[in-house]
Amino acid sequence: MRHFFDPHLVNDVFGDPVLYVDFLEERRALLFDLGDIRALPPRKLLRISHVFVSHAHMDHFSGFDHLLRVVLGRKNAVVLFGGPGFIAQVDHKLRAYTWNVVHRYEVELVLEAREIGTDGRLQRARFSSRAGFVREPCAALELAGDVLHDEALFRVRSRFVDHGTPCLAYAVEQKAHVRVAKDRLAALGVCTGVWLRELKGAVLAGAPAATPIQVRWRDRQGEHEMNRSVGELHDLVLDVVPGRRVGYATDLCFTEANVQTLEQLFGGVDRLFIESVFLDADRDHALRKNHLTARQAGEIARRVGARSVATFHFSPRYEGREQALIAEVDAAWSGPQGGVPADAS
Ligand SMILES: [Zn+2]
Ligand SMILES: [Zn+2]
Repeated sequence: MRHFFDPHLVNDVFGDPVLYVDFLEERRALLFDLGDIRALPPRKLLRISHVFVSHAHMDHFSGFDHLLRVVLGRKNAVVLFGGPGFIAQVDHKLRAYTWNVVHRYEVELVLEAREIGTDGRLQRARFSSRAGFVREPCAALELAGDVLHDEALFRVRSRFVDHGTPCLAYAVEQKAHVRVAKDRLAALGVCTGVWLRELKGAVLAGAPAATPIQVRWRDRQGEHEMNRSVGELHDLVLDVVPGRRVGYATDLCFTEANVQTLEQLFGGVDRLFIESVFLDADRDHALRKNHLTARQAGEIARRVGARSVATFHFSPRYEGREQALIAEVDAAWSGPQGGVPADAS
């Protein structure tokens, strides 16, 4: 089945955590974390409209330079989100270079940094190539609950978890949408036509049920036409489908507060991407490092009701033993439907 978006991990389980969410029909993408992104070809980097950084440890932020180098002179805008201190971190990255020629580039690049405070406020600043990437402040925004970014067809939510430092976990959610039930269309004896687009548009815009729709179509017998209302047609040929939901959580310790935060963010997600850095035999070490063990990751996946799980960010000490980590996640999760194994893609 073709989805509205397709999330995949850019690196293998021992590489830096980076999730690329490809919006197949829109020629654009979202990026979660910005560590080593060299595996992404420039054409894929150029599709990125928004980057969501969990925290600024090097394995999550060192790819900033590579992204900037690829998009500079070729793309107009990239918006980057991060936690406390993020605007200064972006500013410092930019200040590390000499920008005496970029103001002449034909394509202006504007980087917008958005910093999520633990108080629910969103500070913003912009950096334009025309001005040598000098920091320009923008008005702060008040966030609506945990919704960080909202578009017509999808939203991104986020919440802080504890990693010895505040770290953001993210959820990407396609909004509920309407789908044409082709079999019922045939049973009704009508064919597709422009009227279906009108109907979908009316439903999505919340038009009253009595709104008339002229159903017109053409087949071998010629032109046909009938008048129906939005309400009638909605029930007859449209299904409201819940949107696909994907969760991304990395770099956190296993505390009850963290698990509850993830339950609020991820309840019932279709796919959960979650770190499992250590085997549970090394759980004391995991706690000291503020990371999850594979068993803890599986337990979180079970508690949030994830329908499928992908795991990553394995410690190099387990090189050659990745199956042991995956099996441990799987055993603790053993999905709600059972039988669907955790994987690492
Ligand atoms: Zn990390
Ligand atoms: Zn970290």
